[in-house]
Amino acid sequence: MSPTLRQQVLRKIPSVDDLLSRQEMSDLLKTYPRTVVVEAIRRGLGRLREEILNRSDLSASEETLFAFENLFPLFQKEIGLQVQPRLRRVINATGIVIHTNLGRAPLHPLALKQMIEVAKGYSNLEYDLALGERGDRYSHVEEILCRLSGAESALVVNNNAGAVLLVVNTLAEGKEVIVSRGELVEIGGAFRIPDVMKRSGALLREVGTTNRTHLTDYEKAIGSQAALLLKVHTSNFRVMGFTSEVSLQDLVQLGKQHRLPVVDDLGSGCLIDLTKYGLEKEPTVQEAIRTGVDVVTFSGDKLLGGPQAGIILGKKDILKSIKVNPLMRALRIDKLTLAALESTLLLFLDEKRAMEEIPTLRMLGLDMGALKRRGNRLLKRLQEKVKKGGQFALKEDVSQVGGGALPLQELPTIILSMKSPDRSVNSLEESLRKSEPPIISRISKDELVFDMRTVSDEEIPLLAGGIEKVLNQMNEK
Ligand SMILES: *Cc1c(COP(=O)(O)O)cnc(C)c1O
Repeated sequence: MSPTLRQQVLRKIPSVDDLLSRQEMSDLLKTYPRTVVVEAIRRGLGRLREEILNRSDLSASEETLFAFENLFPLFQKEIGLQVQPRLRRVINATGIVIHTNLGRAPLHPLALKQMIEVAKGYSNLEYDLALGERGDRYSHVEEILCRLSGAESALVVNNNAGAVLLVVNTLAEGKEVIVSRGELVEIGGAFRIPDVMKRSGALLREVGTTNRTHLTDYEKAIGSQAALLLKVHTSNFRVMGFTSEVSLQDLVQLGKQHRLPVVDDLGSGCLIDLTKYGLEKEPTVQEAIRTGVDVVTFSGDKLLGGPQAGIILGKKDILKSIKVNPLMRALRIDKLTLAALESTLLLFLDEKRAMEEIPTLRMLGLDMGALKRRGNRLLKRLQEKVKKGGQFALKEDVSQVGGGALPLQELPTIILSMKSPDRSVNSLEESLRKSEPPIISRISKDELVFDMRTVSDEEIPLLAGGIEKVLNQMNEK
């Protein structure tokens, strides 16, 4: 095609003013601010210009390109992109229960209810109702945390990375923190123990080797500069084979002998002994506290199943010194988080209920019977609604816990697999990811798979609807 022809077509793009004078656009102006509508037209026309520049067969499509009924949906879509939130709910069909990229733990309805209750008006966030004077924002969860864990004192901050930073900075700024080489972990993206150490102003003193660290390694490293013995849960990996690590118990003894505080970063921080429910051993918070450790830290949104938070438990005098660290203010927990966290923690008073109702724990505990029923519901809906273009089957597979918890745990699961004779698995995955609500699936052996573990019963109609829409759109083409 000649460049001049392309120029001619480009010149025919309608002007913003022309478009604004249409009745349909005036109607939009009744609902949306003028700036939004004008911006939508600009962006829509920008896309049109791009299309004209990229098309090879322009003359044939010129008429339809500029037809208002074709442009209008483009503008509507551009309005939507401006006024709708970018942060949206998605359907997690990956089977990864604690999925950091997908927002980790879905909250219990009571936690949601309490968040709304606290958020819609004023609250006693920092107000002591008994005394009628200024109160402490951390007091609301301290008692329940101590009761559940057996700790003397408790504190909550923005997240566990913040908790570790705060604790290390308070106890060891300008001094040495002794850590095993087997525990210098990176937990996704930016959280690496050596880097956190640097930022906290402490000096990292590595001891032992990657696979084996002994008590004597710690002992030999304790000099005049030592301020803290730190144990880090290796979370997302395990060292297997010829290995040896020092137990928290022994480390606590060593700390006592040398009058050094011992801190345990538990990572996931489980309050329930999961082996009772047929899962692998994850050290519990209570066990850690029972060793007499000075401080433990863990996340609120991993195995606790609550909102993003960093929980710090431990000895009263140490937590007191942490509370007055100016960093506290920078890492402080928000009232919505606090409301959701408190409600979640209260559920743990009844362990059985926590296991059955807190979404994260419930998903981990789902048995094959429940997963099969869910899979069958989805399959049945799809078989009824999708006439052609998709082949479905229920199969057995394994899901992952995610979030750095129980990395070796294999959770037997049921997946619905899908393939289409007309379309690649990658393009199906993309279309579903871009549908509303977005559906995040997994590709396995050239099929698209939907893991029933992380899709709730309420989401089955939405999931079926999304799949149906993507396959039917394809049939229309
Ligand atoms: C996940 C994890 C962290 C980081 O916790 P966030 O709540 O994500 O900040 C720190 N340490 C360990 C061992 C972890 O597993």
